[in-house]
Amino acid sequence: MADFDFDAVVVGAGAVGLASGYALSRRGLVVAVLEAGPIIGEGVSARNSEVVHGGLYYPTGSLKARLCVQGRRALYAFCDSHKVAYDRCGKLVVATSPAEVERLDAILLQAQTNDVEGMAHVGKAQALAMEPELYCDAALISPQSGVFDSHGYMLALQGEIEAAGGAVVTSTPFEGASPLAGGGWSVRAGGEEPTTLTCRILVTAPGLSAQAVAATIEGFPTPTIPLLHYGKGVYFRLSGKAPFSRLIYPPPIHGALGTHYRRDLGGQAVFGPDLAYVDTLDYSVDPARATSFYEYIRKFWPGLPDGALNPDYAGIRPKLHGPDEPQPDFRIDGPAAHGMENLVTLFGIESPGLTSSLAIGEEVCARLDL
Ligand SMILES: Cc1cc2nc3c(=O)[nH]c(=O)nc-3n(C[C@H](O)[C@H](O)[C@H](O)COP(=O)(O)OP(=O)(O)OC[C@H]3O[C@@H](n4cnc5c(N)ncnc54)[C@H](O)[C@@H]3O)c2cc1C
Repeated sequence: MADFDFDAVVVGAGAVGLASGYALSRRGLVVAVLEAGPIIGEGVSARNSEVVHGGLYYPTGSLKARLCVQGRRALYAFCDSHKVAYDRCGKLVVATSPAEVERLDAILLQAQTNDVEGMAHVGKAQALAMEPELYCDAALISPQSGVFDSHGYMLALQGEIEAAGGAVVTSTPFEGASPLAGGGWSVRAGGEEPTTLTCRILVTAPGLSAQAVAATIEGFPTPTIPLLHYGKGVYFRLSGKAPFSRLIYPPPIHGALGTHYRRDLGGQAVFGPDLAYVDTLDYSVDPARATSFYEYIRKFWPGLPDGALNPDYAGIRPKLHGPDEPQPDFRIDGPAAHGMENLVTLFGIESPGLTSSLAIGEEVCARLDL
């Protein structure tokens, strides 16, 4: 058997790359995670809602449905065992019009089909008793939804990989790989001291660079690389006291879960993200977008004071669909998809990728028959 520098190389030290590295480490493999940036977790994993999703909406039989629920259960257990902070605050899906009230039944049915625990209808009076500042005609409660410290989580994953003898190497971009004659990979890593290393298994989890990275793998069937679309979402932060203790979500919009409310672990109220298709990785927040936020939020929080919303941050989703196309599933492509042994390429890991990350790592291993 060939002697490799590492059993596995993972490209990208975001939540998904690190969780994949952790899953491989748990199978006794020595893993190197290569990260282009100077620190871990500064990509999509740093620009999101940090919500632990229940797994309510995803279509039956999809990876998102299965991996979100499995990932969420695994994530809370991981946070417990690694002392990562979270608040399983629960979430209300709120309907503020007759049309939205009608949608709640379908959401509840899908959530129950997805095996989401504890879902139930909540009447108007009951919702008001739970959250006195809320306006809604009806709601659903998802007790398993929450918020968590995603950076603490990623640091804990890094610690696990290193404790198993692996390495998480920053400022080291993956620049391409070639299959070795006897199996395995020769990997070109850049940075200040460019090098070549060998491994048996290669996993690519580079978020917004997934398509570009796959194209640098020699022999990769490029027609299988999906188109990339950028789905930008901005957030506004509230000055003043957080009005609700639970997450508040209107029913989803096409292509995203919709602008929602969360109280972060610091106790502050944050609203977002909206969705706009963009052509560049521009993370600025246009203050003018506040107008639509006020209008939207006041449907479920009529008491939102004028001038209370401040532009905060933006994130960009690595989408595989355009504005009018159906939203596809995660792509976790193993040999059956691209025909190359010991390779898994991930595409389109947008929400609920953070919640699902531990289960995605397990799925990566399953694609490799590990
Ligand atoms: C606005 C928004 C809100 C969201 N909210 C939630 C939420 O509340 N809950 C949830 O579950 N999910 C949410 N998501 C989705 C979640 O954030 C992502 O699915 C997840 O963070 C993706 O992680 P990743 O590791 O795949 O990507 P990333 O975190 O982007 O990691 C990829 C890493 O690869 C590195 N990289 C790129 N190219 C190379 C290269 N050539 N060599 C080496 N390294 C490279 C990058 O620098 C980066 O660090 C949200 C996403 C967005 C955009």
